[in-house]
Amino acid sequence: MKKYTIVCKNDDQALTLKNEMQQLLAGKMKEDAISPDFVVSIGGDGTLLKSIHQYEREIDHVIFVGIHAGTLGFLTHYQSEDLKKAVEKMLEEEPHLIYRRLLEVDVNHEQRYLAFNEVRLENSYMTQIVDVYIDQQFLETFRGTGICISGSAGSTAYNKSLGGAIIFPDLSVLQLSEIAGIHHNAYRSLGNSLILSCQHEIKCHVEGNAHTILGIDQMVYPVPCSCDFIIRTHPSHQVRFLCNEDHTFVSRLRKAYII
Ligand code: NAP
Repeated sequence: MKKYTIVCKNDDQALTLKNEMQQLLAGKMKEDAISPDFVVSIGGDGTLLKSIHQYEREIDHVIFVGIHAGTLGFLTHYQSEDLKKAVEKMLEEEPHLIYRRLLEVDVNHEQRYLAFNEVRLENSYMTQIVDVYIDQQFLETFRGTGICISGSAGSTAYNKSLGGAIIFPDLSVLQLSEIAGIHHNAYRSLGNSLILSCQHEIKCHVEGNAHTILGIDQMVYPVPCSCDFIIRTHPSHQVRFLCNEDHTFVSRLRKAYII
């Protein structure tokens, strides 16, 4: 028997959906939070991101099922009224999946993290200086609030607020966007977002201070000293989502941002 677990937003709507889901799966799948085959995330994109990081170590085995109960829910493929449909798909022998690449950030060749949406180097207290290299070639010295490097799946998240491009999900790219860059006759950096294919890597050298942070999706880590960050598309790790064919990327764009 296949196993599942539920990561749920702590509000009434999500908790009610959790109960319904447990009833629908009773006798068909076993609840197991340690080594699940399916991780059902009930909430918004924030809850889905949390569940991805919670099951990061199992990322190549687990299938994520995003049930929307919250505010935006751009990444969640199933609406609250689609619970039965989601359960039917989960019970299929070979359910239709969609795959999303993860980013990897290497810190000083000592530590590595995975990111789904983006990696940010930020400082909202004082001007942050970041030396940016593409594949070891120096591009620019950025000055401003920070740098955001997103993957395709993160293009609709922080990157979108920065004026970056929305990337169609079948393209696997890295996107470098500035967070409030300073541009005048003394300080110059690209300004526009730069999109690179997933073969490239971006290195950011940062002279960190007490206010510099490394942001990885919803997590933040202090960067108190000089550090090199290499951000690339992870060569193998992908997040697998249970697909809802009725919920296309275009329909999600319309629903989330246009109507
Ligand atoms: P959060 O409150 O969990 O998320 C902030 C908003 O971003 C929520 O409305 C969330 O949707 C939405 N979101 C997250 N991932 C998305 C994606 N891939 N596509 C479209 N929308 C997405 O905030 P958090 O815990 O601090 O950070 C989680 C993520 O939120 C970060 O990775 C970052 O991308 C994003 N964020 C954006 C801004 C900004 O745009 N200025 C600021 C902070 C964080 P739900 O409402 O469905 O959860």
